[in-house]
Amino acid sequence: MQYHSFLIKYAEIGTKGKNRYMFEDALVKQIRYALRDVDGRFEVSKESGRIYVKAEGEYDYDDTVEALKRVFGIADICPMVQIDDKDYENLKQHVRDYMDQVYPDKNITFKVDARRGDKQYPVTSDQINRDLGEVILEAFPQMKVDVHHPDVLLHVEVRQKINLFSVKIPGPGGMPVGTNGKAMLLLSGGIDSPVAGYMIAKRGVKIDAVYFHAPPYTSDRAKQKVVDLANLVARYAGPIMLHVVNFTDIQLYIYDKCPHEELTIIMRRYMMRIAQTIAEQNGAIALITGESIGQVASQTVQSLAATNEVCTMPVFRPVIGFDKQEIVDVSEKIGTFETSIQPFEDCCTIFVAKHPVTKPNINVIHSSERKLEEKIEQMVETALETTEKILCEG
Ligand code: ATP
Ligand code: MG
Repeated sequence: MQYHSFLIKYAEIGTKGKNRYMFEDALVKQIRYALRDVDGRFEVSKESGRIYVKAEGEYDYDDTVEALKRVFGIADICPMVQIDDKDYENLKQHVRDYMDQVYPDKNITFKVDARRGDKQYPVTSDQINRDLGEVILEAFPQMKVDVHHPDVLLHVEVRQKINLFSVKIPGPGGMPVGTNGKAMLLLSGGIDSPVAGYMIAKRGVKIDAVYFHAPPYTSDRAKQKVVDLANLVARYAGPIMLHVVNFTDIQLYIYDKCPHEELTIIMRRYMMRIAQTIAEQNGAIALITGESIGQVASQTVQSLAATNEVCTMPVFRPVIGFDKQEIVDVSEKIGTFETSIQPFEDCCTIFVAKHPVTKPNINVIHSSERKLEEKIEQMVETALETTEKILCEG
């Protein structure tokens, strides 16, 4: 079947009362954005509680569906046939053609589900169900009616035009990006943080990202890997501004002044402080990390508490209760896994101590940090000033 339009079904945003129009507008905007690079011209419109995508002329069906599958807020993508001429005989002919083309294997059960939005239409929904059922049975004797568990539920919506659809392609769910504020993702080259960013963006949050780079201890290739990951997440989350912070001097200074077993915790506290400042400067009101309880020494509950102590913003840790395999499953689903496992060191692996503290004492950490007093403020200032911005558009 050559489809030219899609009905977009959304789940959760339908429940937002007065804010509903805002969610619909954001969804329309995100759909237009997602389709910008797909071959074809599209009209995305909102009509009485419905969102339609219509292709004007030739277009790439598969790419269109792939792009729509990445738009948060879409529950189902329904390729449909829209009939302008509502004449009853014309409708019957379209239904015959539809069933013939969409279901080449005729050994199926079906049910017709007509909805008459246009109350002026001369035939009632019940009558349409019966008539079209008969039309299908006559044309394709192998097909059977099953009103309880049909293989095919053929929707016939009589509105200004008539919509025919029966195929539902699942979208990603969630809410349209841009409906829930902005957060700053601490994006490393690992498996977890891209997944964390995806999960928060899925709830409608716009994201920007910050990466702590430590040249020459971390290579340009490691940085490129993070840029690649940001671009992959941006395919779902929309454009991501990636802030690359040069962290080398701060890391070396901590290495020089503080006990090595506390290095990771103190470093992570500075990452959070800097990320928070960059967030404030860019209108983000929360931070996101890929931390998961117990995964490594810096992610015991005590370590997380010590890291969190420097944050005044809420920190979202969407994979906090996930096992590694559960995080891997999401990263495979969203297509970041292959990039994440490329073997380029991130800054943490270079400076890890043999026996990092797993139960940091916050008073001890405070007194270690006092050893940094002389230069650290200036170093943070410099790191902020020399931050490089890279726009990742997917
Ligand atoms: P990931 O797989 O996301 O790298 P991880 O299991 O390697 O996580 P850590 O290295 O302890 O865990 O980092 C925990 C979190 O801290 C990361 O998920 C990320 O949000 C943040 N983070 C760590 N290193 C960096 C970095 N170099 N730049 C930005 N954020 C970082
Ligand atoms: Mg990591």
